[in-house]
Amino acid sequence: MANDVVFVFDFDKTIIDCDSDNWVVEELGFNDLFTQLLPTMPWNSLMDRMMMEIHSQGKTIHDIAECLKRAPIDPTIISAIKSAHAFGCDLRILSDANAFFIETVLKHHGILDCFKEIKTNPSHIDGEGRLRISPYHDFNSSSHGCKICPPNMCKGAILERMRASLSAEGKKRFVHAGDGTADFCAGLKLEEGEYLLPRKDFPVWDVICKNPMLIKANIREWSNWEEFEAVLLDTINGFLFADDSSTAARADQVIPVDCKFQQSSISARQSALRVPH
Ligand SMILES: [Mg+2]
Ligand SMILES: [Zn+2]
Repeated sequence: MANDVVFVFDFDKTIIDCDSDNWVVEELGFNDLFTQLLPTMPWNSLMDRMMMEIHSQGKTIHDIAECLKRAPIDPTIISAIKSAHAFGCDLRILSDANAFFIETVLKHHGILDCFKEIKTNPSHIDGEGRLRISPYHDFNSSSHGCKICPPNMCKGAILERMRASLSAEGKKRFVHAGDGTADFCAGLKLEEGEYLLPRKDFPVWDVICKNPMLIKANIREWSNWEEFEAVLLDTINGFLFADDSSTAARADQVIPVDCKFQQSSISARQSALRVPH
Protein backbone atom coordinates (compact mmCIF):
# COMPACT_ATOMS: atom_id res chain seq x y z
CA MET A 1 0.00 0.00 0.00
CA ALA A 2 1.14 3.56 -0.69
CA ASN A 3 1.04 4.47 3.02
CA ASP A 4 3.88 2.02 3.65
CA VAL A 5 6.06 4.12 1.37
CA VAL A 6 7.98 6.96 3.02
CA PHE A 7 9.19 9.65 0.61
CA VAL A 8 12.00 11.68 2.13
CA PHE A 9 12.65 14.86 0.17
CA ASP A 10 15.58 17.21 0.34
CA PHE A 11 14.37 20.83 0.06
CA ASP A 12 16.94 23.14 -1.59
CA LYS A 13 17.34 22.43 -5.32
CA THR A 14 14.98 19.46 -4.95
CA ILE A 15 11.64 21.05 -4.08
CA ILE A 16 12.56 24.66 -4.73
CA ASP A 17 14.84 25.44 -7.67
CA CYS A 18 17.49 27.31 -5.67
CA ASP A 19 19.30 27.17 -2.36
CA SER A 20 17.08 29.01 0.13
CA ASP A 21 20.04 30.26 2.20
CA ASN A 22 21.76 31.74 -0.85
CA TRP A 23 18.45 33.09 -2.11
CA VAL A 24 17.69 35.07 1.06
CA VAL A 25 21.25 36.37 1.44
CA GLU A 26 21.45 37.47 -2.22
CA GLU A 27 17.94 38.91 -2.46
CA LEU A 28 18.43 41.01 0.66
CA GLY A 29 21.81 42.27 -0.58
CA PHE A 30 24.16 40.52 1.85
CA ASN A 31 26.08 38.31 -0.54
CA ASP A 32 29.44 40.12 -0.27
CA LEU A 33 29.49 39.77 3.51
CA PHE A 34 28.36 36.14 3.25
CA THR A 35 31.18 35.30 0.82
CA GLN A 36 33.69 37.13 2.99
CA LEU A 37 32.69 35.25 6.17
CA LEU A 38 32.16 31.78 4.64
CA PRO A 39 35.81 30.64 5.02
CA THR A 40 35.75 31.58 8.71
CA MET A 41 32.86 29.50 10.08
CA PRO A 42 30.56 26.54 9.35
CA TRP A 43 27.69 27.30 6.93
CA ASN A 44 24.99 26.74 9.55
CA SER A 45 26.65 29.11 12.05
CA LEU A 46 27.15 31.65 9.27
CA MET A 47 23.43 31.62 8.43
CA ASP A 48 22.63 32.47 12.07
CA ARG A 49 25.21 35.28 11.86
CA MET A 50 23.70 36.52 8.57
CA MET A 51 20.27 36.71 10.19
CA MET A 52 21.85 38.97 12.83
CA GLU A 53 23.42 41.19 10.13
CA ILE A 54 20.15 41.33 8.18
CA HIS A 55 18.23 42.23 11.35
CA SER A 56 20.76 44.91 12.34
CA GLN A 57 20.26 46.58 8.94
CA GLY A 58 16.54 47.01 9.67
CA LYS A 59 15.23 44.05 7.67
CA THR A 60 12.39 42.30 9.48
CA ILE A 61 11.24 38.69 9.66
CA HIS A 62 8.42 39.81 7.35
CA ASP A 63 10.99 40.93 4.74
CA ILE A 64 12.67 37.51 4.94
CA ALA A 65 9.32 35.73 4.58
CA GLU A 66 8.35 37.85 1.55
CA CYS A 67 11.71 37.08 -0.01
CA LEU A 68 11.22 33.33 0.56
CA LYS A 69 7.79 33.47 -1.07
CA ARG A 70 9.51 34.64 -4.28
CA ALA A 71 11.95 31.68 -4.32
CA PRO A 72 11.64 29.78 -7.61
CA ILE A 73 9.52 26.63 -7.47
CA ASP A 74 8.06 24.82 -10.46
CA PRO A 75 4.28 24.20 -10.46
CA THR A 76 4.98 20.64 -11.62
CA ILE A 77 6.64 19.68 -8.32
CA ILE A 78 3.77 21.25 -6.38
CA SER A 79 1.23 19.12 -8.24
CA ALA A 80 3.43 16.01 -7.94
CA ILE A 81 3.62 16.45 -4.16
CA LYS A 82 -0.14 16.93 -3.95
CA SER A 83 -0.68 13.77 -6.03
CA ALA A 84 1.69 11.70 -3.89
CA HIS A 85 -0.05 12.98 -0.76
CA ALA A 86 -3.52 12.31 -2.18
CA PHE A 87 -2.39 8.79 -2.95
CA GLY A 88 -1.64 8.20 0.74
CA CYS A 89 2.16 8.32 0.69
CA ASP A 90 4.00 9.40 3.82
CA LEU A 91 5.96 12.50 2.76
CA ARG A 92 8.76 14.01 4.83
CA ILE A 93 11.45 16.66 4.42
CA LEU A 94 15.10 16.10 5.32
CA SER A 95 17.00 19.34 4.73
CA ASP A 96 20.01 21.35 5.84
CA ALA A 97 18.04 24.62 5.42
CA ASN A 98 16.00 25.62 8.49
CA ALA A 99 12.45 25.25 9.80
CA PHE A 100 11.38 28.86 9.18
CA PHE A 101 12.56 28.96 5.55
CA ILE A 102 11.03 25.59 4.68
CA GLU A 103 7.70 26.11 6.44
CA THR A 104 7.31 29.61 4.94
CA VAL A 105 7.82 28.33 1.39
CA LEU A 106 5.68 25.20 1.73
CA LYS A 107 2.86 27.09 3.41
CA HIS A 108 2.92 29.81 0.75
CA HIS A 109 2.43 27.18 -1.95
CA GLY A 110 -0.24 25.30 -0.01
CA ILE A 111 1.73 22.07 0.46
CA LEU A 112 2.93 22.32 4.08
CA ASP A 113 0.16 19.97 5.24
CA CYS A 114 1.24 17.34 2.71
CA PHE A 115 4.30 16.63 4.88
CA LYS A 116 4.17 14.58 8.06
CA GLU A 117 7.51 15.75 9.35
CA ILE A 118 10.30 18.24 8.60
CA LYS A 119 13.75 17.21 9.79
CA THR A 120 15.96 20.28 9.57
CA ASN A 121 17.96 22.83 11.55
CA PRO A 122 15.71 24.36 14.22
CA SER A 123 14.89 28.05 14.11
CA HIS A 124 13.03 30.53 16.28
CA ILE A 125 12.34 34.25 16.42
CA ASP A 126 13.91 35.83 19.49
CA GLY A 127 12.61 38.71 21.63
CA GLU A 128 14.23 41.23 19.28
CA GLY A 129 12.40 39.81 16.29
CA ARG A 130 15.58 38.26 14.89
CA LEU A 131 15.53 34.81 13.33
CA ARG A 132 17.90 32.45 15.12
CA ILE A 133 19.12 29.29 13.39
CA SER A 134 20.66 26.41 15.35
CA PRO A 135 22.41 23.25 14.17
CA TYR A 136 20.30 20.06 13.98
CA HIS A 137 23.21 18.22 15.54
CA ASP A 138 25.09 20.10 18.28
CA PHE A 139 28.60 19.67 16.91
CA ASN A 140 30.15 21.62 19.78
CA SER A 141 29.32 18.83 22.23
CA SER A 142 29.98 15.85 19.93
CA SER A 143 30.62 14.89 16.31
CA HIS A 144 28.20 12.74 14.34
CA GLY A 145 31.26 11.10 12.82
CA CYS A 146 30.19 11.21 9.17
CA LYS A 147 32.83 12.45 6.73
CA ILE A 148 30.36 13.11 3.91
CA CYS A 149 27.98 15.47 5.71
CA PRO A 150 28.50 18.93 7.25
CA PRO A 151 29.09 19.00 11.06
CA ASN A 152 25.54 20.16 11.90
CA MET A 153 23.63 17.37 10.15
CA CYS A 154 24.23 13.81 8.90
CA LYS A 155 21.33 12.88 6.61
CA GLY A 156 22.21 9.18 6.65
CA ALA A 157 22.06 9.04 10.45
CA ILE A 158 18.70 10.83 10.44
CA LEU A 159 17.27 8.49 7.80
CA GLU A 160 18.39 5.49 9.85
CA ARG A 161 16.73 6.91 12.97
CA MET A 162 13.58 7.65 11.00
CA ARG A 163 13.49 4.04 9.81
CA ALA A 164 13.98 2.76 13.36
CA SER A 165 11.27 4.98 14.82
CA LEU A 166 8.75 3.98 12.13
CA SER A 167 9.50 0.27 12.34
CA ALA A 168 6.90 -0.19 15.09
CA GLU A 169 4.22 0.71 12.50
CA GLY A 170 5.29 -2.22 10.30
CA LYS A 171 7.62 -2.54 7.35
CA LYS A 172 8.21 0.77 5.59
CA ARG A 173 9.88 1.26 2.21
CA PHE A 174 11.93 4.42 1.79
CA VAL A 175 12.48 6.68 -1.20
CA HIS A 176 14.92 9.59 -0.99
CA ALA A 177 15.15 12.47 -3.46
CA GLY A 178 17.93 15.05 -3.39
CA ASP A 179 20.72 16.88 -5.17
CA GLY A 180 23.63 17.22 -2.69
CA THR A 181 26.42 15.02 -1.35
CA ALA A 182 24.56 14.66 1.98
CA ASP A 183 21.74 13.11 -0.05
CA PHE A 184 24.27 10.48 -1.15
CA CYS A 185 24.87 9.77 2.55
CA ALA A 186 21.11 9.26 3.00
CA GLY A 187 21.14 7.08 -0.13
CA LEU A 188 23.75 4.81 1.49
CA LYS A 189 21.17 3.92 4.15
CA LEU A 190 18.53 2.84 1.64
CA GLU A 191 18.00 -0.88 1.23
CA GLU A 192 17.57 -3.13 -1.76
CA GLY A 193 14.18 -2.60 -3.38
CA GLU A 194 14.04 1.01 -2.19
CA TYR A 195 14.71 4.06 -4.39
CA LEU A 196 17.16 6.92 -4.57
CA LEU A 197 16.01 9.75 -6.85
CA PRO A 198 19.10 11.90 -7.49
CA ARG A 199 19.05 15.16 -9.43
CA LYS A 200 21.25 14.44 -12.43
CA ASP A 201 24.44 16.48 -12.94
CA PHE A 202 24.29 17.82 -9.40
CA PRO A 203 26.77 16.84 -6.62
CA VAL A 204 24.79 13.74 -5.56
CA TRP A 205 25.02 12.44 -9.11
CA ASP A 206 28.78 12.96 -9.32
CA VAL A 207 29.31 10.97 -6.10
CA ILE A 208 27.02 8.18 -7.30
CA CYS A 209 28.94 7.94 -10.57
CA LYS A 210 32.23 7.63 -8.65
CA ASN A 211 30.82 5.03 -6.20
CA PRO A 212 28.11 3.13 -8.09
CA MET A 213 28.52 -0.09 -6.08
CA LEU A 214 27.87 1.55 -2.72
CA ILE A 215 24.17 2.21 -3.28
CA LYS A 216 21.96 -0.82 -2.68
CA ALA A 217 18.74 0.95 -3.68
CA ASN A 218 17.48 1.39 -7.24
CA ILE A 219 18.53 4.71 -8.72
CA ARG A 220 16.18 6.77 -10.85
CA GLU A 221 17.72 10.05 -11.85
CA TRP A 222 15.88 13.15 -13.03
CA SER A 223 17.09 16.32 -14.68
CA ASN A 224 14.01 18.53 -14.93
CA TRP A 225 10.73 18.97 -13.08
CA GLU A 226 8.64 17.01 -15.56
CA GLU A 227 11.05 14.09 -15.21
CA PHE A 228 10.98 14.41 -11.43
CA GLU A 229 7.19 14.25 -11.38
CA ALA A 230 7.17 11.25 -13.72
CA VAL A 231 9.81 9.42 -11.64
CA LEU A 232 7.93 10.13 -8.40
CA LEU A 233 4.58 8.98 -9.69
CA ASP A 234 6.03 5.97 -11.47
CA THR A 235 7.86 4.95 -8.28
CA ILE A 236 4.54 5.01 -6.40
CA ASN A 237 2.99 3.01 -9.20
CA GLY A 238 5.84 0.51 -9.00
CA PHE A 239 5.28 -0.09 -5.29
CA LEU A 240 1.58 -0.64 -5.89
CA PHE A 241 2.35 -2.98 -8.78
CA ALA A 242 4.65 -5.05 -6.60
CA ASP A 243 1.98 -5.29 -3.91
CA ASP A 244 -1.12 -6.10 -5.86
CA SER A 245 -1.72 -6.24 -9.59
CA SER A 246 -5.39 -5.33 -9.25
CA THR A 247 -4.46 -2.21 -7.26
CA ALA A 248 -1.84 -1.36 -9.85
CA ALA A 249 -4.38 -1.53 -12.65
CA ARG A 250 -6.46 1.02 -10.77
CA ALA A 251 -3.39 3.12 -10.05
CA ASP A 252 -2.60 3.32 -13.75
CA GLN A 253 -5.83 5.16 -14.23
CA VAL A 254 -5.12 7.56 -11.40
CA ILE A 255 -1.44 8.27 -11.96
CA PRO A 256 -0.07 9.21 -15.36
CA VAL A 257 2.91 7.03 -16.20
CA ASP A 258 5.53 8.36 -18.55
CA CYS A 259 6.68 5.49 -20.73
CA LYS A 260 10.22 6.71 -21.01
CA PHE A 261 10.69 6.22 -17.27
CA GLN A 262 9.60 2.64 -17.44
CA GLN A 263 12.40 2.19 -19.95
CA SER A 264 14.91 4.01 -17.77
CA SER A 265 13.97 2.04 -14.68
CA ILE A 266 17.35 0.42 -14.45
CA SER A 267 19.54 -0.68 -11.61
CA ALA A 268 21.91 1.65 -9.81
CA ARG A 269 24.98 0.01 -11.20
CA GLN A 270 23.85 0.08 -14.84
CA SER A 271 22.57 3.60 -14.49
CA ALA A 272 25.75 5.00 -13.01
CA LEU A 273 28.10 3.15 -15.34
CA ARG A 274 26.16 4.36 -18.35
CA VAL A 275 27.11 7.94 -17.62
CA PRO A 276 30.53 9.16 -18.76
CA HIS A 277 32.36 11.08 -16.05
MG1 LIG B 1 19.53 20.21 -1.78
ZN1 LIG C 1 26.29 11.63 6.68
